[in-house]
Amino acid sequence: MKSSEKNLLSMPYHQHIQPLRQMSIQMLIQSLVQSLIQVLALTLLVSKFAYAESSLVNVETIKDATSNIVIAKNLSQIPLTLTLNLSSSTNITSSTSWPIIRLLQAGETAELVRVSAADNSQAYAFQYLYRYQIGQPNVQAAPGAKYLVPFISTKAFQVMQAADGPIFSHHDIAAKNAIDIPMPIGTTVIASRGGYVIENVNQFSDNGQATSDFLSKANYICILHDDGTWAIYVHLKQFSSRVAIGQKIAAGMPIALSGNSGFSTEPHLHFALQKNENGNTVSFPIQFWGESTGVVIPRYHSWLTSAGVLPSRPKTKHSAKECTENAIIDETTLRCMRGQ
Ligand SMILES: [Zn+2]
Repeated sequence: MKSSEKNLLSMPYHQHIQPLRQMSIQMLIQSLVQSLIQVLALTLLVSKFAYAESSLVNVETIKDATSNIVIAKNLSQIPLTLTLNLSSSTNITSSTSWPIIRLLQAGETAELVRVSAADNSQAYAFQYLYRYQIGQPNVQAAPGAKYLVPFISTKAFQVMQAADGPIFSHHDIAAKNAIDIPMPIGTTVIASRGGYVIENVNQFSDNGQATSDFLSKANYICILHDDGTWAIYVHLKQFSSRVAIGQKIAAGMPIALSGNSGFSTEPHLHFALQKNENGNTVSFPIQFWGESTGVVIPRYHSWLTSAGVLPSRPKTKHSAKECTENAIIDETTLRCMRGQ
């Protein structure tokens, strides 16, 4: 990983993160109002990237005597912003203007729009697409938030992709400010900042390859922060996750081990801070913080160490049972994480 050649070979690809939250639905309605005959065809096209986790939103259309009603339900425990775009239409009138952007609180079911014929003597049809993002649009990251270097190791690891260096795979806005940190498989990954686990993909092998087959096979964890931003930890070791969706995580808590799953040619951790910006996932710059180091900016080719960012040693030791439930890291916790 020291050579530029090796560096060029290390091209982790993370587009699966963004499309995961995108689904599309097509709906075609032919309505002959005068004859009261309606033919409804509904096709649900799930993104090829929508793997492992089920959709966090259910969108469906029901009809009453005069219109078709699009209804969305947030199936998750977190707020989501749903964006509905009209992709085609013929002879319709809508109860609200398109695109429709709607914040859905946890578990909320909401009527988004009613669509009916503009001219009742004519057939009408419409198609729409939807996507959703975590939290509210235009979230602002809390300025005072602190982020720990997201691993525990006695060794330092070098940042091999960052926004200020050559960009191999972090081309889109969701990954622009992400970093890649090569590290041995099995390195303890910790929560950089506290929050709630909202995605937890765990089942893929650590035989990462730079082929399209592996685009959707990265293990990763996503943790939502109090300010509505979130962090993603990608390419984790198979079956190493120690968290569950909905679990509250404190900063510094071990969450998994690093691995080499997905589109990757070298064991490493892909880490990014992201937020919802007008319904799109965008990454924002990372600043780590440690008690002894102060602010550390993970620049290209800089070395990161967990030294100095470890929380204080706990006053009481932890049982193995506690290793995934407590924020404080000590040797017992680390052995527990490694199954020792
Ligand atoms: Zn990456």
